[in-house]
This record gives sequence, C-alpha cells and structure tokens, in this order.
Amino acid sequence: MAEKTDATIVDIYSVLHVLQPGTLGPKSRLKANKPCPICLQSDRTKVEHLDLMLDAWDPCDIVGVESNVTFAVSPRLRNEFLASEVRGVLFREMKVSLNGNFAVSSPGVEAPELVQLDVVATVPAATSWYDPLEKCERCGRVTYQPNASKRAAGATTSSRRPKGPLRQVPRAAWNGEDVFWTQDPGPPVVTEKVKLLLDRSVAPQLILHPAQFV
Ligand SMILES: [Zn+2]
Repeated sequence: MAEKTDATIVDIYSVLHVLQPGTLGPKSRLKANKPCPICLQSDRTKVEHLDLMLDAWDPCDIVGVESNVTFAVSPRLRNEFLASEVRGVLFREMKVSLNGNFAVSSPGVEAPELVQLDVVATVPAATSWYDPLEKCERCGRVTYQPNASKRAAGATTSSRRPKGPLRQVPRAAWNGEDVFWTQDPGPPVVTEKVKLLLDRSVAPQLILHPAQFV
C-alpha cells in the first residue's frame, strides 16, 4: 500500500451489492448491442431509458437494477451528487411502474419519485479480480475470467467485514472520476467522496468492498 502521507491517495471501493427491488419494465430502452460473432462478447448493456418495475418499495435513496447495469436514486441523493460535483455519472428522468403484486407487497405505498443514475465513465484497464484470457482478432475485446480474489470478495456479506484481497485498480489509467466501470466485467468503483454521500443515505443492502489504486 502507498503511504498515507501522499496527499494524492484516494480511497476507492467496489459497489459489490445494493438492493434491487424491481426489474426492467417494458418501457425500458436498451442500447442494441450485437455480440461479436467470433468471441460472442458485447459491450456493457446500456439502459438509455429506464422503466423500473418495482416488486415492492421501502423509501430509500439508491437501488440497483438488473445486476447493477444501472441505478436509480432519490432526487435528494441526485442533488447531493450534483452539489459535490461527482464525476463519472449522468442523471436521466425515468419511469417507475409497479408490478401486479406491488399492492400486496407494499400495501398503501405510492410509487416513489426516482432518477436514473447511470455510470458513464470507464477506466480503460482491468482489475485484479479478473484474469485476461485472450484478445479477439475480430473485435479486439479481451475475454476476462473472474479469479479467486473475485470469488472471495463475492462471499462478502457486509461492508464492515470484507473478504478476500483488495481489488486493485491501475492508477495510471484513472482520470479522476468518482464513479467508474473498469475494462473487466466487474462492478463499478466509487471514491471516498461518493462513499461518504452513500454513508449518509438510506442504501439498503449496500456493500462497498475496499479497493486500492496500484
Ligand atoms: Zn470478438
């Protein structure tokens, strides 16, 4: 680990888990994304318009959608992100719909107002949670395989007791974003600035796994 006396050290965390109280509704619009015919890989799914169909709702500030391809936040948390000039995210208006069981799961609860939080920044490097297998000759994409470090971290059930070695992010590829994807298929990374905003929010089941720049 780098010494803490270095003023440029930034603490970072992987967003390992956050509550997902719904699914993509029929009004969602995904970016068409044909897989490469050779390696069968495609770019990360982009949700250009989010229709979050809720199964149930307990008021909170942030939820994930479909394995966290995108997120939805309260207007309050959006305003905090904007006030703190968080880099690497984009906010969009979205639709909230309720599935057929909602009235049973959440009696008397009204549809919340939410805003889509999309992670738009990508650090063009892989992290230590994935091993590169091969580079496709057709599309140039690298195939990544989760390794033992990723599997160990995946067993983490609380932010206070992270399991496995720290996820390592190549510092040289980072452009100062506060929220970003990495080249591998791993979860997004957030900086300490974002962690502090999330710590002050209602974020059910949020697990932030400590990571480090190397
Ligand atoms: Zn390919």
